[in-house]
Amino acid sequence: MSEDKIAKFREIVDGSHSIVFFGGAGVSVPSGIPDFRSSKGIYSEKTGYTYAPEEMISHEFFEIHPDMFFNFYFSKMVYPDALPNAAHLVLAKWEKQGILKAVVTQNIDGLHQMAGSKNVLELHGSVHRNYCQKCHRFFPLEEIDKTGIPKCPCGGIIKPDVVLYGEALDQSVLEQSIRSIASADTLIVGGTSLVVYPAAGLIRYFRGKHLVVVNLGNQSGSFFGPYDCLTIHDDIAKVFMAVDKYNTH
Ligand code: ZN
Repeated sequence: MSEDKIAKFREIVDGSHSIVFFGGAGVSVPSGIPDFRSSKGIYSEKTGYTYAPEEMISHEFFEIHPDMFFNFYFSKMVYPDALPNAAHLVLAKWEKQGILKAVVTQNIDGLHQMAGSKNVLELHGSVHRNYCQKCHRFFPLEEIDKTGIPKCPCGGIIKPDVVLYGEALDQSVLEQSIRSIASADTLIVGGTSLVVYPAAGLIRYFRGKHLVVVNLGNQSGSFFGPYDCLTIHDDIAKVFMAVDKYNTH
């Protein structure tokens, strides 16, 4: 990891008053949560077909094959024992210090809140919120059966409050995310390639001074804007730990 880049990142953070963090799957990887898109999917003997991850977590698949949906969901997307890593913890600390205004995340694991962050905008929902499709009763993750199709005492299927492919994003969360990004002086993008929706679209609203991109891969896309861009290709937990510890004096 380049010391110069960490120093520069520290300098940007120290000079900022309204940081917004935008995060993707890579933020949770150091917490032991792999990107579900990297999974091979699941083979069905019933249909003789291997379903791709993106196909399995679509609204249509949930309706047609709820058994296979929940099998994939509980084995590849829900990690009840995962803990926040340095990135989550440092972001929560910056919010407490008043310099970070919001975390916008594509992750559904709730690790930012577990780390202490308060203003977390979950674009894709959360595994921690679950509702009966019939009576709308709420169930925390701990209370639902993870070995099959989770059912409410009323007989309805309990659906996770997670945005599936083919479903619309929560409009209010999306609007709050846009407002936060539009009023940020520094935008930190972490653990996402930025080339896919909605990341690519949201970044267009940024009008601040500094864009910092922290991503392990090097296919972050390119940015053209009225801001300067610092790119760090490394493990996000390591980068945040280094920035937190970096001594400016
Ligand atoms: Zn019910």
